[in-house]
Amino acid sequence: MKNISVAIDGPAGAGKSTVAKKVAKKMDLLYIDTGAMYRAITFLVLQEGIAIDDEQKIINIAKNTTFDFSKDGSEIFVNGENRSKEIRTPMVSENVSFVSQIGALRTVLVNAQQKLADNHDVIMDGRDIGTHVLPKADLKVFLTASVEERATRRFEELSRQNKAGSVTFEAVKKNIIQRDTIDSNREQAPLVKAEDAVEIDTTTLTTNEVVDRIISLIRKIHR
Ligand code: C5P
Repeated sequence: MKNISVAIDGPAGAGKSTVAKKVAKKMDLLYIDTGAMYRAITFLVLQEGIAIDDEQKIINIAKNTTFDFSKDGSEIFVNGENRSKEIRTPMVSENVSFVSQIGALRTVLVNAQQKLADNHDVIMDGRDIGTHVLPKADLKVFLTASVEERATRRFEELSRQNKAGSVTFEAVKKNIIQRDTIDSNREQAPLVKAEDAVEIDTTTLTTNEVVDRIISLIRKIHR
């Protein structure tokens, strides 16, 4: 039987990964966090002291990097090392959208994402999944929420994990707005809702309400 593929796109902090992870668990799908891959390359670039606009060196890094995910998709192994924590630092968040603008880097990562999706039932989240990575996905969802709500969720998540440090709510909000602006305006594969995507505004919904909505959409297409 044909594999199922679900694409979840949307702006920063809309709850994509939280929701996708839960849907994956309930529906037995493989969860792939593509943002973690762009973050991993950004982490390596910063670690090696490479300028974030040095396209050639960045593309070489991407070509020589392997990605593996834990079964539930929450841990990422970059070249065999667990980098799940390092890729979420404010330093990486501040630089990732600049690195992600590089067209040839996107081509390398999109190929890797399509390979990961081959032969599996997948749910993949990102910015260009429905438009570029899985254009034939069985279901495309575009998750949104107000900027205020997205910044609140991100800040609370950081505080809960004691990762907020000296980062303020305003700084988190500013980073979200900056990333959305760059992600939506880049030349290659900008953040945009696919024509055939179902848009869900999650501002006033709980995580479980969003999860249930997506599961009922999957059941409708996969009867
Ligand atoms: O999903 P997350 O917020 O962790 O993504 C971090 C950044 O990676 C985004 O702001 C965007 O610049 C980039 N990204 C992308 N395409 C994807 C996933 C993420 O450009 N498919």
